[in-house]
Amino acid sequence: MNSQSAGQHIQKRNKPILKDEISFIVMHLLPIGIFWTGATTFDWVMCISLYFVRMFFITGAYHRYFAHKTYKTSRWFQFFLAFMAQTSAQKGVLWWAAHHREHHRYSDKPEDPHSMKLYGFWYSHIGWIIGPDYKETKFGIIQDYAKYPELVWLNKYYLVPPFVLAIAVTIAGAFINGNGWESFFAAQGGMSALFCGFFLSTVLLYHGTFTINSISHKFGTQRYETGDESRNNWFLAILTLGEGWHNNHHYYQSSTRQGFFWWEYDITYYILKVLSWIGLIWDIKEVPHHIKTSRSLAEAREKQKRIEEAKKAIDMEKYSKQPLV
Ligand SMILES: [Zn+2]
Ligand SMILES: [Zn+2]
Repeated sequence: MNSQSAGQHIQKRNKPILKDEISFIVMHLLPIGIFWTGATTFDWVMCISLYFVRMFFITGAYHRYFAHKTYKTSRWFQFFLAFMAQTSAQKGVLWWAAHHREHHRYSDKPEDPHSMKLYGFWYSHIGWIIGPDYKETKFGIIQDYAKYPELVWLNKYYLVPPFVLAIAVTIAGAFINGNGWESFFAAQGGMSALFCGFFLSTVLLYHGTFTINSISHKFGTQRYETGDESRNNWFLAILTLGEGWHNNHHYYQSSTRQGFFWWEYDITYYILKVLSWIGLIWDIKEVPHHIKTSRSLAEAREKQKRIEEAKKAIDMEKYSKQPLV
C-alpha cells in the first residue's frame, strides 16, 4: 500500500505488460479485417446475435450461477453453461466467478480487484484484466465448483470454447456467404463471417461486460444503501441483459432477479425463468418483499421482524378460535 484516495489506503496495482497481452491487442485489431473482406447481412446478424447470446451466458451462467449460486441445475447443464459462457473469451469460469466474489467481498474497498472509485476508469474497465496482478484463478474462494474436474479442465483450457465457436462461425460463413468448403478462406465467405460475426462481436462483448465493473459503479441512481458506489443504470441494463440494475444486485446478491420491479427489464432473468419451466434449472431465488421495499439492511431487518410478528399474531388468533376437542 503506498498512497491514499478518498481517505482509504489503496493498493499498488502493476501496469499491464503489453508484450504479454499481444493476443488481447490482436483481438481488438482483427475486426479491422472487415475493411478488407466487407460484411454480409449474415455476418452482421451473427455479430449481433452472438453478442446477446453470449451476454446471456455471461450474466446467467458466470455471474448468477457460478459467482452467486442463485439457482440450481444438473451437472451436465452446469458444464454446458460454463462452456457457452467461455465462448466469450473472458478467461475461465472459475477465474471469472472467483474474482467476482472478491469484488463483492471488498466492493469499492482497496482489496476490490476493480474499483473505479479507487483505481480509475481504465483500470476498473480493462487494466485489472490485462495487468499482472489478477492472472491466477483463486481456487480458495471457488472450491464449491473447483471440485468438478470437468470445470477445472475447462478453466485451464479456457480458449477451447472460443476456438470452437470461431471455427463454427467461419464454416457457417463459408456455406451461407460462399460456395461451401472451398469458401472457408475466401474474403466473401468464411473470413468475413470470422472478422465480423466472431471477432467484432467478441470485442463488443468484452466492453459491454466490462461496463458493469467500471461505469455502473459511477453513473446511475442508488436506490439502496450498499456502502459502495454501485448504481442502477437503465441503459447498461439493455446492453447487458439486466446487469445494469447493479445497485439492486449489490444490495441483495442472492436473488436470481436483478430488476427488482416489473419495469426494471431483466432479460437474463426472463430466459432463466423459461429454463426453469422446462426443468433445466430449478430453485430460482426471488427478491423478498422486505428487501425490495427497504432502503437499507437495518430497515429491511426491522420490516422482516414486523412481518414475522404480524404472522405470529394471526396464528395465535386462529389457534384461539379452534375447538378444544
Ligand atoms: Zn455479482
Ligand atoms: Zn459491482
